[in-house]
Amino acid sequence: MKFRFSAADEAFRQEVRQFVRDNLDPALKRKVELGLRLERADYVAWYGKLEQRGWITPGWPPEHGGPGWTHLQRYIFDEETQLGGAPRIITSGINMLGPVLIAFGTAEQKARYLPAIRRSETWWGQGFSEPGSGSDLASLRTTAVREGDHYVVNGHKIWTSYAHVCEMLFCLVRTDPDAAKPQQGISFLLIDAKTPGVTIRPIRMLDGGRDLNEVFLDNVRVPVGNLVGEENKGWSYGKYLLGHERTGIAGIGGCKQQLARARRLAAAQPLGEGCLLDDPAVRERLAALETDLMALEFTSLRILSANQSVRVPGVEASILKVRGTELRQQILDLLVDIAGPWAVPFSEEAMLEGFDDESPTPEAFVAVAANALDARKASIYGGTNEVQRNVIAKVMSS
Ligand SMILES: Cc1cc2nc3c(=O)[nH]c(=O)nc-3n(C[C@H](O)[C@H](O)[C@H](O)COP(=O)(O)OP(=O)(O)OC[C@H]3O[C@@H](n4cnc5c(N)ncnc54)[C@H](O)[C@@H]3O)c2cc1C
Repeated sequence: MKFRFSAADEAFRQEVRQFVRDNLDPALKRKVELGLRLERADYVAWYGKLEQRGWITPGWPPEHGGPGWTHLQRYIFDEETQLGGAPRIITSGINMLGPVLIAFGTAEQKARYLPAIRRSETWWGQGFSEPGSGSDLASLRTTAVREGDHYVVNGHKIWTSYAHVCEMLFCLVRTDPDAAKPQQGISFLLIDAKTPGVTIRPIRMLDGGRDLNEVFLDNVRVPVGNLVGEENKGWSYGKYLLGHERTGIAGIGGCKQQLARARRLAAAQPLGEGCLLDDPAVRERLAALETDLMALEFTSLRILSANQSVRVPGVEASILKVRGTELRQQILDLLVDIAGPWAVPFSEEAMLEGFDDESPTPEAFVAVAANALDARKASIYGGTNEVQRNVIAKVMSS
């Protein structure tokens, strides 16, 4: 199958590119391009611009504030914003909860929560995983017991991204411990993170960041009005959520951005009379990665253009996820090799100080090691690559 962007798609690409140029704060762009850690305020500043333009919720239907884009337009948007140095849309409220509330929430839940998500006023944490219940999520043990007009929730969630800066959590909880199958007794609850009994404890990550958290739920009283959909049907809402946001799963824009960074860094590293970019070994690795990325890009575009439903089918999404995350890790490993002695896995502060006062770490290399360590997570979250391979193997052998 031949693939070509239409003239309308190309015009849309120019529109997004110009929007990024006109609206992205140069200081924020610099932070993104150097791979420095972003705070909630950084994201919110950019999201505000997207919200004003009507672009903050690409996956939502137009009647709820989505822009009504095709898969390809969403792909172009992701690519152009990332190449332009803008922060990605990372919030679980936009990417995960919004579509679930739109599909299964009550009118009151939609009116109460969706506008605040669009305006980045409320950030949501995804409370699914538990110690011992990650890949095998249906084994989750957090309980919610109905007492009058409340559920009383007890349990322990883990790896909850950004919970420490979130106002709200959406959680899978067990409401029927006696159900015939583990998937059948689970419900989907919205929990205010300020409720007594909620304790959020950040986890130190490989790159020195603290974006992940443990969440302890100790006799937390949640109004029954915070149940999404029907009691004990939460597993199907969770599956809907996990399958929804898959158009950008290969992360092509991010890989392109990192490859461009690799070229810049190689050009900035002196080697003999020239620079590292003149080294045939470096050029060969760059070329191999660029070729692999191009192959993945066309696979991704073929799948997206053949598929106009909201969801990208499971096995294709698994292939894109495995290949995209592997490539991302390989590109970041190349960055580390390019940075050579500057790729030191310390905190950003320590790296900025450099080895000694006479040889401070060049700014461009400051976060390379941390970014490469951080990229290890990509093959774990959103379903580990081993589990994705199981999905692929099952379909291929059937
Ligand atoms: C950066 C990051 C952000 C995350 N954010 C969130 C979040 O916001 N909310 C949330 O709920 N969760 C989040 N997670 C958790 C994530 O969903 C789990 O880490 C993931 O599902 C794997 O579960 P686990 O860590 O319990 O590992 P396990 O499931 O215990 O797996 C351990 C190892 O065994 C392998 N394995 C497991 N089962 C199989 C199998 N059947 N076949 C072959 N190999 C197998 C896995 O691939 C892995 O290598 C996040 C994780 C990361 C890394």
